[in-house]
Amino acid sequence: MNDQTIETPGKHLLRCGPGEDILDLDRHLATGGFEAVKKALDMQPDAVREEVKKGNLRGRGGAGFPAGVKWGFIPADNPKPRYLLVNADEGEPGTFKDRYFLEHDPFPLLEGIIISAYAIGANTSYIYVRGEFVKQIRILEDCIAQLYKSGYLGEKVLGRDYKLDIYVHPGAGAYICGEESALMESIEGKPGRPRNRPPFPAVVGLFGCPTIINNVETMACVSLVFRHGAEKFVQMGLEKDGGPKIYCLSGHLKKPGLYEAPMGTNLKTLIYDYAGGTLDDRPIKGVIPGGSSTPVLTADEIDISMDFSSLAAAGTMLGSGATIVFTEGTCPVAVLKRISQFYAHESCGQCTPCRSGTGWLSRIVDSIESGNGRAGDCDLLLDAAGNISGNTICALGDAAAMPVTSFVTKFRDEFERHIAEGRCPYGN
Ligand code: SF4
Repeated sequence: MNDQTIETPGKHLLRCGPGEDILDLDRHLATGGFEAVKKALDMQPDAVREEVKKGNLRGRGGAGFPAGVKWGFIPADNPKPRYLLVNADEGEPGTFKDRYFLEHDPFPLLEGIIISAYAIGANTSYIYVRGEFVKQIRILEDCIAQLYKSGYLGEKVLGRDYKLDIYVHPGAGAYICGEESALMESIEGKPGRPRNRPPFPAVVGLFGCPTIINNVETMACVSLVFRHGAEKFVQMGLEKDGGPKIYCLSGHLKKPGLYEAPMGTNLKTLIYDYAGGTLDDRPIKGVIPGGSSTPVLTADEIDISMDFSSLAAAGTMLGSGATIVFTEGTCPVAVLKRISQFYAHESCGQCTPCRSGTGWLSRIVDSIESGNGRAGDCDLLLDAAGNISGNTICALGDAAAMPVTSFVTKFRDEFERHIAEGRCPYGN
C-alpha cells in the first residue's frame, strides 16, 4: 500500500491523508489530543467501561466481541496484576489497516490504550507488533517516549494517581501469534502456540494474570468514544454496532486502499463509490468480505450491509474488514489454492485436525488446479473441511476450512470442470 491509497472521507479514524502524519505530540495536542483521556480519567473506571458499552463498540480484530463487555470479564476479586495487550500483529491476508495507525497516526491508539488500561485497572500494557513492521515499531517507540517525557505515561499519568507503562513487543513473524493466547505465549518468551480455553485470558492470561487483548483499531475507537461521547459514536455507525469502520479494499478495483466509512456501509457502495468500481468495469465474480479466512460472497450476494450481524446472517463474517474483490475471468480454484497454502503453512502443528487437515486441503486444491484432480475431490474437500471445523484448539482450523467450504459450494461447477478437463479452463 502506498500513501495515495489512503482515503479519509470520515476523518475520524483516518484523519491523516498523504503527507499529513501526526507523529509529534504537540501537533496531536493542537488537534484536541488527550482531551478524551482527561475526560476518561476524571471518571471512575466502571463509568469508563459503561461509556464504551453505551457506544456499542465491537472489537475490530475479527470476532466483533463488544469491547466494554469483554473488559467486564475480569474477576473483580482477583488480586493479581492486570494486563492490557494490544494486538498489532496484523497478518490476515487482505488486512492492512492497523499499520496505518502505527505509521501515520499513533496517538489515538495510545490514547485508547491509556483509557482502556485505566478502565480495567491495568498498570502495564504491551503492544505486540508484527515483527516485519520495523519502521512502524520505531515510530511507535518514539511517540511513547514523547508521552513519558511529557507526563502522559509513567508514575502519574497526567498528574493523576494512576500509573501506566506501555511496552512495544515485536513479534517474530508467525501468523498464529495474532491469535490472542499464542500472542501471550510469545510475550512470555515461549513458542507462539495457542492455549486451550477455558480458562480465558480475562481470568488467566499473561503470566497467569487477568488480561484483556484488544486490536489496534479498537483502541483508536475507544479514544473516539471519549472524544465525541458514546451517543455520537453510535451515530457514526449502527445502533447495535457503533462507530466508523476502516475497510481495506483490495483486489480488482480501480482505487484499492483504506477507506473509513460508517459501520454498515453497503458493500456495493464501498466497491463502486469509494473504490471507483472494478478494473476495466469487469463484472464481479466474488468478494471475500473480511480477510482471507471469511466465506466468499458471489456477485448476487454483495448488496449487503458491511457490519458484523448482517454478514453473519449471510453466512460469512466482517472479520477485520479486509474486502478482496475478484472479477470475471478469475479462476476460483487458483484463489482457493493460494488461501489454502497460506493456512497450511501457518498451522502451528499443535492439533491433528489442523496440522494434517490443512495440508490435505492445500494438496487436494493444488492437484485440482494443476489438472490432476480426481472425481470425488469436491466431496472430499467438503468432508475434510467439515472435520476440521470446531475440532481444533484455536480458530486457525476454522479459518482454513471456511474458505474451502464456501468456494467449493459456490463455485462447484468450476471445480468440477477443472477435474473433468484435467486442466485450468483459465489457462493457469
Ligand atoms: Fe495450532 Fe492449528 Fe491447532 Fe490452532 S488449530 S492450535 S494453529 S494446530
